[in-house]
Amino acid sequence: MSEARARHSDVLVIGGGIHGLSTALHLAQRGVEVTVLEADYCGRHASGVNAGGVRTLGRHEAEIPLALSSRDLWHDLVQTLGDDGGFVPSGQLKLAETAAELDECRQRVEHLQRRGFTHEVLIDAQQVFEIIPTVARHVVGGIWVKDDGYAIPYKTVTSFRLAAEKLGVKVLETTPAQRIEQRGSGWQVTTPAGVFSAGHLVITAGAWARELAEQVGESVPAHPEGLMLMVTHRVAPFCAPVLGATGRSLSFKQFANGTVVIGGKLIGSVDFPARHGEVDLARLGISARTVTDLFPHLKHLGVNRVWAGVEAFTADDLPVIGASRRASHLSYSFGFCGSGFQMGPGTGKRLAQQILGEHSDISLEAFDIGRFDTARLDETRSSGSHIPTHLPLVAR
Ligand SMILES: Cc1cc2nc3c(=O)[nH]c(=O)nc-3n(C[C@H](O)[C@H](O)[C@H](O)COP(=O)(O)OP(=O)(O)OC[C@H]3O[C@@H](n4cnc5c(N)ncnc54)[C@H](O)[C@@H]3O)c2cc1C
Repeated sequence: MSEARARHSDVLVIGGGIHGLSTALHLAQRGVEVTVLEADYCGRHASGVNAGGVRTLGRHEAEIPLALSSRDLWHDLVQTLGDDGGFVPSGQLKLAETAAELDECRQRVEHLQRRGFTHEVLIDAQQVFEIIPTVARHVVGGIWVKDDGYAIPYKTVTSFRLAAEKLGVKVLETTPAQRIEQRGSGWQVTTPAGVFSAGHLVITAGAWARELAEQVGESVPAHPEGLMLMVTHRVAPFCAPVLGATGRSLSFKQFANGTVVIGGKLIGSVDFPARHGEVDLARLGISARTVTDLFPHLKHLGVNRVWAGVEAFTADDLPVIGASRRASHLSYSFGFCGSGFQMGPGTGKRLAQQILGEHSDISLEAFDIGRFDTARLDETRSSGSHIPTHLPLVAR
């Protein structure tokens, strides 16, 4: 095989997090030849260091159909990947600590029900105590989602990678994409290891995706944040589901080994050029206090480790998923605002369908990159111009 042929694929994916690998896997399942370029190693960033929450609870309404379809895939992960990624369908519970918070929960559940979504269920204090007997008695109720849960992030990413490689996907680590250029209808990507080409390019580069989009003149109001987590020493099992709170920032779960992971979109800082997040211990302290308010018996539990991962947040709190509006045969999936691990399986499947020009029952319209470019959108609509969005090939 010639050197150029070896570096050519039907689809090139930039970024080996859960979104890049899930998209690659779903394309490979349809017979598409895929190469993934990863700047560091797969799962090095958000996808491998997150809190593992598989949460449909509390989602932005526009995300709910995609999140629910993704959750079905989490429940079927063993069939898809041959491994469960550590997924535990433990349920997730958002606690209300005051009557006003419970009222807020009630209004949300009723609103969702009017929209046809019944996965979030309002429960009273007694029901909360049945689910978590150890929680503080000031809790007055909450919202319960029984089919949510948690997984082990690095294990999940590795399982996606291995399943994709089994289907022939090439994964090249320590291979950062430096320049992307459209050549004819296809793409060329320059890396320190040489130039790669493909009929279609997918950008799933997490917090770094915005910079790549800018290379084709597509501007997205997104910024990186360092999100923090801490993990405690081991403690006897006391809490099966994942917990959140209504009135304060909290995401909390106990893993099978007894350790407790505490987070909840806690913002630290980010050293973007060095590609890592930094921890703010004072802010982590606030979160630790929330946990001991709810579980006083944890007061003397030590913290084992703290860390921060880098994630992209968009101006409207929704991700960018779908075709470029500036260039043909280019797709994006990034900007998950701290909640994209859960979305990985479903988004990869739907993006692959869009790239292949297949029908999907889940619309990606709310995530269209064009929503940030209203002037251009009006221009395109009035001129009727059309950018080809899917692969110029028939999947084998
Ligand atoms: C601390 C923390 C806790 C979180 N908790 C949860 C949670 O409980 N539940 C949940 O659903 N979500 C959670 N999230 C969010 C979730 O982790 C992310 O939304 C998701 O992992 C994003 O996946 P990704 O594949 O888009 O990005 P990433 O995992 O960041 O992957 C992008 C990859 O692209 C690579 N890359 C970047 N630039 C280039 C380039 N030029 N060339 C090649 N490769 C490149 C990077 O090295 C990286 O590996 C959390 C995030 C953090 C940081």
